[in-house]
Amino acid sequence: MSEWTNIINASTTNDPLSGAINTPIQLSSTFNQKSFEDFGQYDYARSGNPTRAAGEKAIAQLEHGQYGYLFSTGMAAISSVLFTLSAGDHIIVSKHVYGGTFRVLEDILSRWGIRHDFVDFSDLDAIEATIRPETKALYIETPSNPVLNITDIRAVVNIAKKNQLFTIADNTFLSPFLQNPLDLGVDIVIHSATKFLAGHSDILAGAVVVNDKKLADKIYFIQNAVGATLGILDTWLLLRGIKTLGVRMSHASASAQKIAQHLNAHSKVLNVLYPGLQTHKGYRIHVTQAKNGGAVLSFDVGSKENAKKLVDALKIPVFSVSLGAVESIISYPPKMSHAELNTEELTASGITPGLLRFSVGLEDTDDLIADLDAALALI
Ligand SMILES: *Cc1c(COP(=O)(O)O)cnc(C)c1O
Repeated sequence: MSEWTNIINASTTNDPLSGAINTPIQLSSTFNQKSFEDFGQYDYARSGNPTRAAGEKAIAQLEHGQYGYLFSTGMAAISSVLFTLSAGDHIIVSKHVYGGTFRVLEDILSRWGIRHDFVDFSDLDAIEATIRPETKALYIETPSNPVLNITDIRAVVNIAKKNQLFTIADNTFLSPFLQNPLDLGVDIVIHSATKFLAGHSDILAGAVVVNDKKLADKIYFIQNAVGATLGILDTWLLLRGIKTLGVRMSHASASAQKIAQHLNAHSKVLNVLYPGLQTHKGYRIHVTQAKNGGAVLSFDVGSKENAKKLVDALKIPVFSVSLGAVESIISYPPKMSHAELNTEELTASGITPGLLRFSVGLEDTDDLIADLDAALALI
C-alpha cells in the first residue's frame, strides 16, 4: 500500500454501531463489566480506552510497527521509554539531542542511577568506544534539532545488534511519511506528535511504536503505571491531523527545499543546515534512509543582533517555539528549545549565536522567500 493510502486507511474507521468513518469519541474513564466473572477488553481508561486504542493502532500502522502507544506529550513518551531502564544501566545518546531529553537524562535519570554519555553519532568508532558492560541502548535523533545533523541509522543498528543493545530513534523531525526507522532495524520509534503528526499547533501529544512483543509489554507497563496517557479528545484531534500528514509533508518539504537552496545562495546567510542540500555533510547518508530533506532548516545570519533584526522584520512566520505546523515558525534555539544549555554546551552542539530554525509551513513558497529577502536586506 502506498504511504498516501496507508495514512487515510490508518486514520479512518468503520464504527460497528453506526458505520461512522471517524473514530467515535468515547469519553469514559471506566467501563461496565459483563459479569462478576467475565471482564471485557476495557476496565479503566488509564489502562485502555477505545478512542486511544484507535489512535495507537493508527500510529503503529504509520510507522510500520506492531504496537503503538500514545502519551500526553512527546516528553512523556520519551520519559516513559527511558523509564524501562533500571538503576545501574547506561545509555549512549546522540549529543545533538532535543533539549527536553537532555534535561530528563541530566537532571532526573542521573539522580536515579541511570547513567548516560553524549557522543557525536557521526563518529561510529566513538559510539563503540563508549559501550560498557552496563550499556543497554543507543538513542538517536535524525535529523537532529536544531542543527539537522544526520545519523546513519543502519550503521547504528549494526553496532547495537553486535553488542546486544536496543536502539531508540526520535523520528519527530521527518514524521512517518518521510522516514521509517523500524524498517531500518530500530527497536523503538518515538514522536513528539505535537509537531508534524498533529500538525496544527493545537495539541500536545507523544507516540511510541515498537515491533517486539516483549518491548511492547514493557512500554505498556510503564504507560499504565506512570499514566501519562493521551486524552480522548486530543487523540481524536491527532487522528484528524494525521489524515492530512501526506499533503502537508509534501508541500512543506518541497517548499523547505526551495527555501534552503535560496538561502544557501544568499550573501547575508553564512550557513544553511538542511539535509536536502547536496552540500550538507549528512546528505549522502540521509538520502538512503529518508524520502527528502523534510520541512525544517536552520540558517546562520552571523550574530545574535542579526538574528534579532531578522525576526523583528519577518511578517509571515510566527516567532515561537515548536515546529511542524500549518503555519511557518521561526525560532531562536539558544533562547527557546535549547535554553537549558550553557554557552559551552551550545557551542559544543553547533548552535551558533546567529542560528535561526525555520519550520516551513503551508504558505506559498514564493511569499516566504520574498519575506525572507526583505528581512535579510535589513541586516
Ligand atoms: C518537541 C520535541 C520533543 C518534545 O515533545 P513535546 O510534545 O513538546 O513534549 C521531543 N523531541 C523532538 C525532536 C521535538 O521536536
